[in-house]
Amino acid sequence: MSSIETIGQERRLRLSGYCLIIPYDKETYILFHTLKGGIALIDVEAKNFLESHSKSGFAASEIKESQVREAVLNLLESGFLIDEEVDESALYRYFLNRNRFDHFHAAFLILTTYACNLACKYCYQGLQKRTDIMTLHIAETVSKWICKLLDFRNSRSIGIIFYGGEPLLNIAALKSVSNNLLSWSRRTGRELFTGLITNGVLLTRQLANELVDSYGLRQVHVTFDGNKLYHDLRRCFPNGSGTFDIILSNLLSYVDSVATITVRVNLDKHNVGTVPKLLDVFQSYGLEKSEIRLRYNGFK
Ligand code: SF4
Repeated sequence: MSSIETIGQERRLRLSGYCLIIPYDKETYILFHTLKGGIALIDVEAKNFLESHSKSGFAASEIKESQVREAVLNLLESGFLIDEEVDESALYRYFLNRNRFDHFHAAFLILTTYACNLACKYCYQGLQKRTDIMTLHIAETVSKWICKLLDFRNSRSIGIIFYGGEPLLNIAALKSVSNNLLSWSRRTGRELFTGLITNGVLLTRQLANELVDSYGLRQVHVTFDGNKLYHDLRRCFPNGSGTFDIILSNLLSYVDSVATITVRVNLDKHNVGTVPKLLDVFQSYGLEKSEIRLRYNGFK
């Protein structure tokens, strides 16, 4: 734990330039770190203090209120506050270039189909979705190309993420690519990490176990848009019926088989208040003890 002494009189801090301050209710504000995806709640005093020091940084000695002092410590610990002299744009460029040019780990996103069984209100594809699928011939060609590239770059580990549309609507291509890359991984002794971004409706216990046991699936990423009420309004079938119960019941059935589960929550001003209720539901099923990561996405 940091203490106020660790800030020091001479150490000057400032709010990261990647932070947004968003009103939550009359007494609370949401601090959202757009680069790290972090989220924190702050009160009016802490918000006023941070805004009044947004141009220039501040030292610990300038914090008069103990409540603000505590908030500052928490924000420092969680990376919302940084040392005043840190050049964040240089840091950003460093991370960007490292991801672009470091081939030790190679990652690929594979779209198996644009088709989807849902009609989410905010879907960028709208209601008339494309229905093209990756054929088995293309799946073979893509696998060969990836293996060739990995050998050429001498990558030591590889991450494959399947997405769509709904990637499970083209399970044949998903299995074909996974098979080919598993063979490459066994042949070369390199590590393979396979993940799936799915709406979660088709991912039953049986399918999840098959994908884990035979196709090396290690990560599943599903979305809940707040509690059942809000989720069902937004993430629904084309006939308007909700998906919350199906996705949750599926998730509970495979939560112990999949190594990592990420739950994305798309937030905006309408559903942000329902997140505690969603967390209560997860807690009531004991999911807080599982390897579940929450990831918040901000919408306007
Ligand atoms: S699950 Fe994804 S692809 Fe399918 S309708 Fe919803 S947002 Fe669109």
